[in-house]
Amino acid sequence: MTTIKSLQCRECKKEYAPTFKYICDECFGPLDVHYDFPSVNKNTFANREHTYWRYFELLPIAEKSNIVSIGAGMTPLIKAEKLGEALGLNNLYIKNDSVNPTFSFKDRPAGIAVSKAKEFGLTAVGCASTGNLASATAAHAAKGGFPCYVFAPSDIEHAKITQALAYGANFIAVDGTYDDANRIAAQIGDSKGIGIVNINMRSYYVEGSKTLAFEVAEQLNWQVPDNLVIPVGSGAMLNAICKGFEELESLSLLGKVSNMHMIAAQPRGCAPIVDAFKKNSSDVIPVENPDTIAKSLAIGDPGDGRYVLKRLKQYNGYAEDSSNREILEAILLLARTEGIFTEPAGGVAVAVLKKMVEERKIDKDDSTVCYVTGNGLKATEVLMEILSKPETMQADIAKISAMVR
Ligand SMILES: *Cc1c(COP(=O)(O)O)cnc(C)c1O
Ligand SMILES: [Zn+2]
Repeated sequence: MTTIKSLQCRECKKEYAPTFKYICDECFGPLDVHYDFPSVNKNTFANREHTYWRYFELLPIAEKSNIVSIGAGMTPLIKAEKLGEALGLNNLYIKNDSVNPTFSFKDRPAGIAVSKAKEFGLTAVGCASTGNLASATAAHAAKGGFPCYVFAPSDIEHAKITQALAYGANFIAVDGTYDDANRIAAQIGDSKGIGIVNINMRSYYVEGSKTLAFEVAEQLNWQVPDNLVIPVGSGAMLNAICKGFEELESLSLLGKVSNMHMIAAQPRGCAPIVDAFKKNSSDVIPVENPDTIAKSLAIGDPGDGRYVLKRLKQYNGYAEDSSNREILEAILLLARTEGIFTEPAGGVAVAVLKKMVEERKIDKDDSTVCYVTGNGLKATEVLMEILSKPETMQADIAKISAMVR
């Protein structure tokens, strides 16, 4: 059994019982899960199932019977020799989270939050989404037997809407930005008692994303990587990855994590955290109308923005953005070197990785992990801007044969 000690305010440190609660009564700060971890060692996890539930003792679900799993996690950590060669890196890894059951990393936080909703005895779940969370929540809701309400901007990719509808979600397509959808979801969640996974369940939700740290640590044979390149929307994932590494250090599963460098990657057109970082400001000024092909990252007012800036300071990190053109080129570079097809969010990470090498912020012999968080099949439309549709040929061997060298 996992033992949660408390929910603790990230700002004033006030502690609360671990209930269906997410904001500090005193200062409105976010609440984080603190644990009394049982004693574990590397062998505890070695022969377990190939999902993130292998780390059950480190996750915020008390009873195994409440687990709602569709088999997410333990995705490949690929030694990216060809991409590394193209960029000039000797020790590059891709954490390929595009191969999760709903094809993005969002299966991690959504699975934890839906399981916690079951533990709390809630009767419905939902989310505010830039696209991927809709499917991740809807799929876990289907498996757990919950009705699911998705609130998302109406301009997200067609494939992401189709996918969420297929899992049976009630899809509310809001004529507005992600921030508009988020505000509506928050109010409806509170007034109707629905578990909105990334809003009123957020304290538990983010715990799922720390498994991106656990798995990388285990896959690197319990070594701490030098650099981590992470695509950033709300910033919840980057924060959670830091928390995950810190918990492993506190459990003596890893050596010192303080020498890691965290690198935040955002798309130009919606890069409020990068803008603040470059101005050396601790205030994130919201982007009112995000404009980028990386729709998963189009969060103008990032909930964890301020905390990402703190993490970048703490871990001697950087923040950089990339243009639509650079994103598309990075998608093709990754696909044509490593055989991994990512959506624009992953392209943002690879494009920023490239800049970091060019600016010598990453050393060629450093171990570097680049997180590829979503699948290219979810966002095929934009790629046709730089690929040309094959011309239809007459089924004539002689003519076609002439095209093949
Ligand atoms: C949501 C999302 C992100 C960003 O995660 P945050 O926790 O919002 O920073 C990155 N990549 C993909 C594919 C996503 O769907
Ligand atoms: Zn507080």
